This record gives sequence, structure tokens and C-alpha cells, in this order.
Amino acid sequence: MSDEQTARSELVAAYRQVAALGLNQLASGNLSVRFQAGMLISPTGASAETLTEAGLVYVDGEGRWAAGARPSSEWQMHTAIYREVPGANAVVHTHSDYCVAVACQNRPLPGFHYLIGLFGGEDVPCVPYSTFGGEELAEAAAAALRHRKACLLANHGMIAQASTLKGAVGLAQRLEIMCRQYVLACQLGEPTLLTQTHWHEFFDRVTQASYRN
Ligand SMILES: [Zn+2]
Repeated sequence: MSDEQTARSELVAAYRQVAALGLNQLASGNLSVRFQAGMLISPTGASAETLTEAGLVYVDGEGRWAAGARPSSEWQMHTAIYREVPGANAVVHTHSDYCVAVACQNRPLPGFHYLIGLFGGEDVPCVPYSTFGGEELAEAAAAALRHRKACLLANHGMIAQASTLKGAVGLAQRLEIMCRQYVLACQLGEPTLLTQTHWHEFFDRVTQASYRN
């Protein structure tokens, strides 16, 4: 298989995996991978049942695509992330239930659990609401992901970037789990948050562990 065939096949498989995990339903959400000077992205209106390898759309670095193709309406968010985050090779955007629940509070997912640190900081930021498919949302999401692996999108969902497609899907799944756990914790009262000391120790431990690997 050519590189492009492999990329298309992996992206379709990942799209179906995200749906099978229950992170996206109907035609919500979209996935992309960096490819050549642009990206391959799921088409607008796609669902796990209808998506095909041939239906994926190549959008070049200038935001252009072949006549007749219809990339996801949120393609600008993906393009902005590839432009702003050099290490990003895959992007997963979902409207998963608990991410939406927390994002509708229009505030970050705070550092209530040490695994929040796996997203690259002491919280998972929440980008303010703006209309889907717009340049404003694209720029805000890309700015948030310069220093994080994922962010919430207020009154909308979440978006994650990683060096691999598998990694980006894993982050989307992990963020949904952590938002669910946060919602559960909040039902018992205001959760205790980790302190600055805890975070310093966490990131020291992560650094030490990665040196050993
Ligand atoms: Zn969306």
C-alpha cells in the first residue's frame, strides 16, 4: 500500500474506533492526520457507517481541496493546530458526553487528579465559545494546544492533538473518562485540587520515568 492508502485506511479505522468507544455519535466530531503539506480529514456529514477511505478529503497547507470534495465544516480548527503545533500529526475532535457537560460550564477541567498532568499541565483549558467552523474558534483552539495535548471547547466539545493517531484517540478517550470522574467527584462536593508542590513532583516524576525508558 502507498503511504496515502495507509494513512486513509488508518484514519477510517480510528474514526470507527472513536464511534465504537461512544465518543462520537451520528455525524458529530471529526478526525484528521497530517499528510504531506496538508492533512487528510473526515468529510462533512460523515458517520461511522458512511465513512469510506475515498471519502476522506485532502486539504492542502493553503486550505484548498479538490473540486467536489467536502471536508468537515471544522477543518480550519485542524489546519490551525497543524500550523501552530509542529509535533501534532493527528487531531481528534469529539462531542463526547462528559466533555460537553464540563465544557458547558465554560471553565477548565481543574487539576483534581494527577492524570490531568498527562495533558501537559495542571488543568485542561476551556476555549471560549465561538461559532463552529469559524476562524476565531480555530485560532483559539490552536493557541490552547500549543502547550497542551487537549482542550475543552465551551458549549461544544473537546479537541486533542498527538504525534500519532493512536495517541490522539487515546487522549480523547482519557479526557472523556476524566470529565466523567470529575462530574462524579463534584456530586460529593467541591473536589480537592492538587497543589503546586504536587504538580512539581508529578512533572519531576514524569521526567525521571521518561529518562529511564
Ligand atoms: Zn464540533
